[in-house]
Amino acid sequence: MVVSPGFIDLHNHSDRGLGDDPQATSQVSQGITTAVIGVDGSSAWPIADWVTKRRANPVAINLLTLVGHATVRSKVMAGGDYKRVATGTEVDRMASMVDQAMREGAIGLSSGLEYEVGSYSATAEVVSLAKAAASRGGLYMSHIRDEADLAFDAIQEVITIARDARIPAHISHIKLGTAGVWGKAPEAVGVLAKARATGLDITADCYPYDAWSSTITVLVPNKQYEDPASVRKALADVGGPESVLVTSCRQHRDYEFKNLQQIAEMTSKSAVDVFIEIVRSGGASVVGKAMQERDIRHFYEQPWILIASDGGIGMRHPRAAGSFPKVLGRYVRESHWLPLEEAVRKMTSAPAARLGLKDRGVIREGAIADLVVFDPKQVVDQSTFAEPAKLSKGVQWVFVNGMPVWQDGKATSSRPGLVITSDKLLSGNRK
Ligand SMILES: [Zn+2]
Repeated sequence: MVVSPGFIDLHNHSDRGLGDDPQATSQVSQGITTAVIGVDGSSAWPIADWVTKRRANPVAINLLTLVGHATVRSKVMAGGDYKRVATGTEVDRMASMVDQAMREGAIGLSSGLEYEVGSYSATAEVVSLAKAAASRGGLYMSHIRDEADLAFDAIQEVITIARDARIPAHISHIKLGTAGVWGKAPEAVGVLAKARATGLDITADCYPYDAWSSTITVLVPNKQYEDPASVRKALADVGGPESVLVTSCRQHRDYEFKNLQQIAEMTSKSAVDVFIEIVRSGGASVVGKAMQERDIRHFYEQPWILIASDGGIGMRHPRAAGSFPKVLGRYVRESHWLPLEEAVRKMTSAPAARLGLKDRGVIREGAIADLVVFDPKQVVDQSTFAEPAKLSKGVQWVFVNGMPVWQDGKATSSRPGLVITSDKLLSGNRK
């Protein structure tokens, strides 16, 4: 067995799921002992209420939260009036809300600039809010504005925000998601490495999956789902119709677990016509190609690109239950992409340092006993797109704050998780 510090997940979507499953079975079974929530620009509000409620009703894992940019933006630009650039007064009000959140325990600011509310913001607005977080020792963590053809512009924007707000910045689930940018991880790493060399504190995380799962319509960014030209471009962007796998289609069960190319051949139609027909008859769940494996590998070879799940309780994607064991089983043991020690560092001491966590992410006398015991010859994910909740195997014991939360293939009834607020972090103490 390997005894490792507990895995610290820098990007976790269990915010709501913890209400249904406070034992966090799908999380502890993969060795997660601490999770950062409030990611992608969306968090609880007010943070103080969330801290109080969570402490009164603890869960199995430790939690830290960011304050969401979209959350404060939609409060200030109320009534759905967020589809525009904010005024100076509005930005000031958002910044004071970020300041309040930091005083109440948030560890930094998250943004989701590709999503509806955040996408209307100017870079200067995000810089102002990031300054508010920076003045209290916070971190800026971003789902950047574009992970597809314009990913390089979006990476540049993070660099601008880090520099202008003088804040440590972190790119969540770094991705090169369309055919136009596939294979360009070395260039993306080059741009970020150059910024780091000028003294900017910028890091990233990457999840170990090359595919996403969503509804079929998300493939077409301009929302012209029945326009053959838009559909043709959309399918080309994800690598062609053979890269789109239908996982669930109520009106055509015979399409399930076939890709659009196979369905086209089966029905003697074009893939574009098949797509439009599926949309018209009620849609489908699909899995699409998000990344090239060689890009993921190149990202993982950088010491400052860490491992996070972007998963969470109840998510319909195998990363919900399989992320950390997948890295240990498939990328470390089977493919030898990186040594076990380096993978563990990216899941433990490196994220702990990024967050300013004291006495976690390491094993030593006097440190807090967040621990994972796993079999390095067995550990592997078992979750798939068909069965996203299937638990990983090979993790024997998980301890949170010294208490067992996972033991011999089962969650215990303990809920020793703490809410860790900014005043308990090294960076929080500095300010
Ligand atoms: Zn995201």
